Amino acid sequence: MFSLRHFKNSIFGSGLTLEALQAQLESVSVPYTDIDCRSCPNPCDEGHEPYPNKFNVDTESTMFGSVKPYHRQIVISTGKMDWDREITSTKNSLAAHVQHVMHTAPISAPPLATEPKNKRSIHVSGVFNCSDSNKISILNGSHHTISDNPEYETVLVFPDFKMVTEVPRSLDGAKALWDAALEPSVSTLPPVNEKSNFSSWIIPYSCVILLCSHKRRDNRCHIAAAQLGQAFAHTLEEHGWTVDTEIEHPLHTMGPPLEELQGTDEENEEHITKQFQELASEKRALILRNSHTGGHRYAGNCIIYTPRGSGVWYGRVSTHEVESIVSQTLEEGLILPPLLRGGLNISRPGCKSLNDW
Ligand SMILES: [Zn+2]
Repeated sequence: MFSLRHFKNSIFGSGLTLEALQAQLESVSVPYTDIDCRSCPNPCDEGHEPYPNKFNVDTESTMFGSVKPYHRQIVISTGKMDWDREITSTKNSLAAHVQHVMHTAPISAPPLATEPKNKRSIHVSGVFNCSDSNKISILNGSHHTISDNPEYETVLVFPDFKMVTEVPRSLDGAKALWDAALEPSVSTLPPVNEKSNFSSWIIPYSCVILLCSHKRRDNRCHIAAAQLGQAFAHTLEEHGWTVDTEIEHPLHTMGPPLEELQGTDEENEEHITKQFQELASEKRALILRNSHTGGHRYAGNCIIYTPRGSGVWYGRVSTHEVESIVSQTLEEGLILPPLLRGGLNISRPGCKSLNDW
């Protein structure tokens, strides 16, 4: 039988107790809950599918703080659930082209004027804002492009919570995408770029759940993603959510693309904020598989993005924790500290929930 001390160490690593972690989160205004991550008894009597016996993950080292700051993260349509080991070395892939553009483009400073003035005031490793980094993280996703032309990709951009469609799978396409949506000085929204041929929308979901599934990097994530995908879909449906694993074309639900908004900047911003707020309460989830994000030893790994602009990275997730993630993090907007690897825009001074506007 495990002692309490062993239990704590196994979750937080030998260097960080639950109390210390909670204190750190409190010090940077991260809304969290102290309820159990596991909703079922151990051993489980609720039929949650266990990982295979040989599914060994790192249960000792401190997981919190294992996410490095980034400015944006993109997820490129591939229609696949596994990819070359290095996605940016796949010839003629948009990932390769974006990587090339990123390494050759001069990067402007992040748009500090639109970020909180207390830049770099977050002193807890693993909790960060967009303005803490210029890095663009490139992932492949399992979604198919929604374009009629299979040469054009559909790219999800986080934390903007925006999707850019009609992106040619070419160097020119990557350059245009960079200029329109990725370059760190490009403001989040509205994305008015008259030169672009893209059509962009707010991602028409209340959350996007990314499950790391990169088998060629590590089979554990591949196994975990399959089980967690089913568990999330099942649990979300029990909670009254609808779940998609392919992106519904937003034209009919969201109206014309953002590039075609006719109002003043202020009016457009208001329109977009209203769309975000409506989506947040609609209980519609998009679950995708994604390529390597680092930290396979913490499988199952998932990242949860919301219209409010937060990106929550959880690790050591099994089917037993899915119920708590749905009820606490998705519905209540509260972090479950024992699962937390880190997060983007999760510091919310004055807010009781990540979902507060
Ligand atoms: Zn269980």
